[in-house]
Amino acid sequence: MTMLPYGRQSVTDDDVAAVVAALRSDWLTTGPQVEAFETDLSRWTGGTGCAAVSNGTAALHVAYAAAGVGPGDEVVVPPMTFVATASSAVALGATVVFADVEEETFTLDPAAAEAATTPRTKVVAAVDYAGHPADYDALRAALAGSDALLLADAAHSIGATYRGRPVGSLADLTTFSFFPTKNLTTAEGGAVAAGDPELLKRARRFRNIGLVRERDELRWPDEGGWHQEVHEFGLNYRLPDVLCALGRSQLRRLGDFLAARARLVARYDEALADLDGVLIPGRRSWAAPAWHLYPVRVLDGRRREVYDRMRAAGIGVQVNYIPAHWHPAFAELGYRRGSCPVAESFYQEQLSLPLFPTLTDADQDRVIDAFRAALRGVPVRPAA
Ligand SMILES: *Cc1c(COP(=O)(O)O)cnc(C)c1O
Repeated sequence: MTMLPYGRQSVTDDDVAAVVAALRSDWLTTGPQVEAFETDLSRWTGGTGCAAVSNGTAALHVAYAAAGVGPGDEVVVPPMTFVATASSAVALGATVVFADVEEETFTLDPAAAEAATTPRTKVVAAVDYAGHPADYDALRAALAGSDALLLADAAHSIGATYRGRPVGSLADLTTFSFFPTKNLTTAEGGAVAAGDPELLKRARRFRNIGLVRERDELRWPDEGGWHQEVHEFGLNYRLPDVLCALGRSQLRRLGDFLAARARLVARYDEALADLDGVLIPGRRSWAAPAWHLYPVRVLDGRRREVYDRMRAAGIGVQVNYIPAHWHPAFAELGYRRGSCPVAESFYQEQLSLPLFPTLTDADQDRVIDAFRAALRGVPVRPAA
């Protein structure tokens, strides 16, 4: 039995041709495709400059490093996210402070973020959970009087808008992931967007081992033509030309991907809105989400049972996410369950139904039928 996945990429002959052309070019990495991909990406971020990096976790690491996050600093993070939003700040020696999420959208609660912010807070990171933007104006207001930078983990939400403004232009730093299940893919890949040219420059340097090549910034400019210097340590988080070529080809279809996702979300909403024991994802009037997940809530303590029944029926449902502070690595640092009750009770009920641009109506109907049957408690026959 093949499992219908909860998410998957869409790769066409055009994508393949773009990759092959890059492979046959003079550049495999850090050639013309990188800058071209960054330029194409910035059309989706309202013109905000972008730096391509090797994955979404690297994007977070780069963004936190660009913000100057280090030992003694605090980073505020919501627990309803993939663990990398938090763990990449730990990797820089910072202390993560978890702040709870809002009901309905399960994005960072501005009041909780404000309460969690101290004079040591360097970054407040919001996550556009499932593709629904966080409440950025309210988060800005919550940070008034603080020096903390606002970061958007937009791994789910490229292409979404908030009060008509595109994701990528809403926070000081925005991070993207191009993992295969995300809204577009470069196999592995990610990007950082930053409006402040100094922040973007710091991001680019950290991505490239910290190397400084600009003559007017060199400590020893007359060393010779080969000379480059490291002033602050970085890592190699470059995204190869080959993958940037794939990203450019994928970006041409991002509008279509998002439209396909929106259409499938509307079909799920229609089919599930009146179902007892289930809540469909909430949304705010000011958001135009770029739905990456379709996260329903299975009530009455039945999530585990419904998950198992769906899996047995060959439907690859997923749970996104275990609250980040529940991971043993955080538990061992002293983080306790119960500190973020909204995120924690949401987790107990959360189930992601399959959602990807090439999901057929017939397969989606099969998901809906299996879900209804699972809720009724009747066995679901696996598809042939
Ligand atoms: C996928 C994801 C990441 C990490 O991206 P990778 O490309 O897998 O490293 C970070 N944050 C969130 C919210 C994600 O969904």
